[in-house]
Amino acid sequence: MRLVVLGGGESGVGTAILGKQKGYDVFVSDFGKIKESYKEVLIKNSIDWEDEKHTESLILNADVVMKSPGIPEKAPIVKKLIEKGIPVISEIEFAASFTKAVTIGITGSNGKTTTTMLTYHLLKSAGLNVGLAGNIGKSFAEQVAEDKYDSYVLELSSFQLDGIINYKPHIAIITNISPDHLDRYDYKYENYIDSKFRITMNQTEEDYLIYDADDEAISDWLQKNKTRAKLIPFSLVKTFEEGVFIKNNTMEAIINQEEFTMETESIALEGKHNLKNAMAATSVAKLMQIRKATIRESLSNFQGVEHRLEKVLKIQNVQYINDSKATNVNATFFALDSMNSPTVWIVGGVDKGNDYNELMALVREKVKAIICLGVDNRKIIDAFGNVVDIMVEVNNMNDAVRMAQRITEKGDTVLLSPACASFDLFENYEDRGRQFKEAVQNL
Ligand code: ADP
Repeated sequence: MRLVVLGGGESGVGTAILGKQKGYDVFVSDFGKIKESYKEVLIKNSIDWEDEKHTESLILNADVVMKSPGIPEKAPIVKKLIEKGIPVISEIEFAASFTKAVTIGITGSNGKTTTTMLTYHLLKSAGLNVGLAGNIGKSFAEQVAEDKYDSYVLELSSFQLDGIINYKPHIAIITNISPDHLDRYDYKYENYIDSKFRITMNQTEEDYLIYDADDEAISDWLQKNKTRAKLIPFSLVKTFEEGVFIKNNTMEAIINQEEFTMETESIALEGKHNLKNAMAATSVAKLMQIRKATIRESLSNFQGVEHRLEKVLKIQNVQYINDSKATNVNATFFALDSMNSPTVWIVGGVDKGNDYNELMALVREKVKAIICLGVDNRKIIDAFGNVVDIMVEVNNMNDAVRMAQRITEKGDTVLLSPACASFDLFENYEDRGRQFKEAVQNL
């Protein structure tokens, strides 16, 4: 059997290692440059590879192809493979077929990483032999090759889900759905929603789907379509016979006839959106029969993930917050919503078709100044120019932070929550977040 792996990054190299171990004739092909460190791994494992090209004669003879999530379906080589009827699958599909481990699959437009890390933290604190994979850290495929874990918490992007055929998580979470990545979905929101719901398509009556019942796109889909999985809703405003909800400032989870309650104040993560993430993670913990004391302790000591509403420093009583991972309007909505002091908002970057009207009410209420940090800030200036008193344009992080410091008074907050991608001025959102933190530390 010939396995061709398109893309020589983390998931590609992991898949190649697993394929080789399982006796496939493996070939890795990357149209870009493969990183030196990955080349070394391929050579060490005697796996054939090429980069900066796709040699068709070495690819179109595949029995199965693993396409890395970054490669669009429209790429010419992928089109040719599909025309020839060769199955093109994702790393998750390939790797899952080689493990009996229970998987918890987490998808959604925002909150995937936070919910994945929190769920992992809960299960690990309970002593389960659990691994963490998907879009995070070491590839799922390589971990399956090492066969170390009984269960996995997987962060799943829609691109990973597009490439599944038989994969089913025992427990699935859809954190929320709002328009994102539409360029990969023919600019049709329905296609993106359907893609997210692929997470449940192979689930059976023994499986679970945990979801945000306040989310319109999710509720809509569930009304019009069927899943066999048992549904576990969570909500900030509704209550359920079975599910997770809020009553008198207490989070209440009723799952499999068991109850778990915890005062929302004792949950370490802040903000309404994080309360939702905590509800989703708690559902998993209950389904996995984790002890209440462990759930309580884990929720009260989990400090969050870097670049997601991360508190950096307080300087002269001004709190600086790094939310660089907010690359869309919905994420920034929740960031602004969780501010409770006058806010200097650093925003901008590569716009992905943003509708800033959604933020208007929050900006009026909370934002005292806007610092535009992008190459092209026109849309932001048009949207908020008449709404806030102070509006400044800068083109690097140091200026943004210094300007913010000049504007703030005691008790204010400086929030970097760009609502945009970072590629105009930074390498990626991590680089943007790190530069912000450095600039703050240098004040
Ligand atoms: P993802 O992995 O889906 O991108 P992250 O956990 O990395 O999600 O968070 C991305 C951004 O979305 C951050 O700015 C974070 O503060 C915000 N966020 C986190 N959870 C939610 C949620 N449930 N709803 C909306 N925004 C959220």
